Amino acid sequence: MSELYDCLVIGAGPGGLRAARELQKARLSYLLFEKDVPGGKVNIAPEVDNYPGIKKINGPELAMKLYDDATLEGVDIRFEGATSLTKEDDIFTLVTENDKTYRAKTVIIASGTVNRLIGLDKEKEFLGHGISYCSLCDGHFFKGEDVAVIGGGNVALKETIHLATLVNHLYLIHRRNEFRGFDYLVKEVKEIPNVEILTPYNCIEILGESEVEGIVIKNAETGELKTLNVSGLFPLVGQIPNSQFVKIDGCLNESGTFPIDEKTRETKVANLFAIGDITERLTRQIYIAEIDATEAVKTIVSRLKK
Ligand code: NAP
Repeated sequence: MSELYDCLVIGAGPGGLRAARELQKARLSYLLFEKDVPGGKVNIAPEVDNYPGIKKINGPELAMKLYDDATLEGVDIRFEGATSLTKEDDIFTLVTENDKTYRAKTVIIASGTVNRLIGLDKEKEFLGHGISYCSLCDGHFFKGEDVAVIGGGNVALKETIHLATLVNHLYLIHRRNEFRGFDYLVKEVKEIPNVEILTPYNCIEILGESEVEGIVIKNAETGELKTLNVSGLFPLVGQIPNSQFVKIDGCLNESGTFPIDEKTRETKVANLFAIGDITERLTRQIYIAEIDATEAVKTIVSRLKK
């Protein structure tokens, strides 16, 4: 039978890296798994300007720093994607894509989410060149400019409310006439003078050679085409949580994220912890994932070192 670890950490974004560092310091036995590159979504952030101690830094550079700091402390990453996580008799079993099996007393899930794409040409290419998924992180780059937000959910509505305080004119484009998000947010958005709501429209083209210079939208009922001269585009059409590998009943909500205990970061399953973007919480920031990691490890240490 394979070795029984104190903890397995799944995902080496800021939260997972921090968790591994804390476990290392606490001298617990652990493994950290990453299916892609360390640093998670930080790698696709054009610029980060709210990380403590660093005035401004581009995302990939910060991701590299976080990774370097962790490896300097002795953290070792297994580059294996998780395919299945189960729990039986208080022991978790993780199977990875190369059919390796690992067992542990506790697990921290830090696997984050991926942005749902609309599926347009240039959607990936122009990330950081006019396309952004976070108004809190990137909104100030578009100060005084005209931008478009795509989506009809709560995220699109909330980001619209924030972004409208910074930009000149904001087009909110949604594919249906009814919004999926809360009525009170829709009402609030409708009252913002520099927001123009365009429904039912689909964005069918992004214009520009090397950055966003405009978009073409098509009316879903009449087929009418409109060109909007915007320099910023926020496609906020949902997130896909990386939780498909979790085969344990009762810990995930309908959308595939984890409700957690706000003090311990434990999920509804004993000794299964979730941190950062994969939690049900909606504010997604690097430092939040790191605080989650510290709190989760604190709980694990107090339980295992009894
Ligand atoms: P969401 O609620 O799933 O909304 C996604 C929106 O994008 C929907 O309006 C959807 O249109 C649209 N969409 C999806 N695919 C599209 C495509 N290919 N092209 C164009 N439009 C597309 O996602 P979210 O806004 O990211 O919110 C995620 C979760 O967080 C939700 O459960 C939400 O309620 C929650 N949330 C809550 C709060 C809060 O204050 N409590 C704040 C933010 C988020 P359709 O409506 O036509 O499907």
